[in-house]
Amino acid sequence: MTKNNSTTSPAYHIGLEDKHGAHNYHPLPVVLSEGRGCYVWDVEGKKYFDFLSAYSAVNQGHCHPRIIDAMVAQSRKLTLTSRAFHNDQLGEYEKYLTDYFTFDKVLPMNTGAEAVETAIKLCRKWGYDKKGIPADQARIIVCGQNFHGRTTTIISFSSDPDAKGSFGPYTPGFVTVPYGDVAAMQAALANDPATIAGVLVEPIQGEAGVFVPQDGYLAAVREACKAHNVLFIADEIQTGIGRTGALLRICGDCTCQGHCERQPATYLRPDILILGKALSGGTYPVSAVLADDAIMEVIKPGQHGSTFGGNPVACAVAKEALEVIIDEKLTQNARALGHIFRARMQELVDGYPNLLKLVRGKGLLNAVIINDSPESKTAWNLCVALAEAGLLAKPTHGNIIRFAPPLVISEKELHEACDIIAGVVKAYA
Ligand SMILES: *Cc1c(COP(=O)(O)O)cnc(C)c1O
Repeated sequence: MTKNNSTTSPAYHIGLEDKHGAHNYHPLPVVLSEGRGCYVWDVEGKKYFDFLSAYSAVNQGHCHPRIIDAMVAQSRKLTLTSRAFHNDQLGEYEKYLTDYFTFDKVLPMNTGAEAVETAIKLCRKWGYDKKGIPADQARIIVCGQNFHGRTTTIISFSSDPDAKGSFGPYTPGFVTVPYGDVAAMQAALANDPATIAGVLVEPIQGEAGVFVPQDGYLAAVREACKAHNVLFIADEIQTGIGRTGALLRICGDCTCQGHCERQPATYLRPDILILGKALSGGTYPVSAVLADDAIMEVIKPGQHGSTFGGNPVACAVAKEALEVIIDEKLTQNARALGHIFRARMQELVDGYPNLLKLVRGKGLLNAVIINDSPESKTAWNLCVALAEAGLLAKPTHGNIIRFAPPLVISEKELHEACDIIAGVVKAYA
């Protein structure tokens, strides 16, 4: 189906955004108007594989019929009450979510950044109320090259000059250590541990370029936190909910078949778990902070909240989105197809070492590193060529291309997509 209406040409839409929207993004010149499963279509009817999945928010595939039905049905009944009153969706959702991830309680929010903010506040308050940290002295250890969102406090501990520069003054109380460095983390934890409330980590650094820490890193951090009575906070906004071939990345390469009821031996249970993105299957902003009673109970009425957090539509959508993950075995699919994808990309890396440096990742969160400087346009040019060939991906940090299709992609479709990537690489090299 090709539309020839000039008012829907890509240039028209790009021009409107350019003129009327803030220039806080630099998108590929593709204007999308429809999506289904692992595919999206542009305004001219051209079909693409979506290999970004809205930064892993669309794990369940675009416009998943079950999730859309849940959203429409709930939207017809009741959309928002605020938390000034109860609603008949929130409790059911909270029970479902806390059973699913085996925590006592959840604090529902909307965007990922809000959930990270919530975890920081929860951690600090626990530090004062439970650990006995002197007033205003609490510190949280974070990792270099982190990405946890865009609020003023969160960018205060970013090491990305674009994200942080000229937005000060910054929120104090954060200590940065290099990611993946056990000794540095242990040293930071041993330095005045009585004032350290928490450690905030991404189990894989997605935005930084899919950095997978060495085996044993997360376990060592988990142990060190325990030893110093410090909360271990896992930001699984991008890595969680099946993406890396485990329900949570913190589960490691588990064999729990995508559901953690049986608590696999490799599960490094965080004290605070942060979820977002795919929690709604990409239909609606839904985020969550999970913790057990001994931590969550420090937040009392009036001390934190959100007008939209825990609204009936969000609850109905998130419950359905999590059921889809189990029913369609998406975690298992991500694990199996991840091996195939990396094997296909490794063939390309071996065949075109001048252009491609390496492939890395877990499950269907992967990146190919381009053999060129981060300042070069090579990765961008490859992504433009990929789009022309029918596959959408986006460079990150100049010379890294992240490949993260919806987890509903089939093996046959994955091979077709790999053929597209191979064709573009071959033509470019
Ligand atoms: C995307 C992301 C966030 C921020 O989520 P938003 O919904 O964009 O605010 C935080 N942490 C990680 C690891 C993310 O990938």
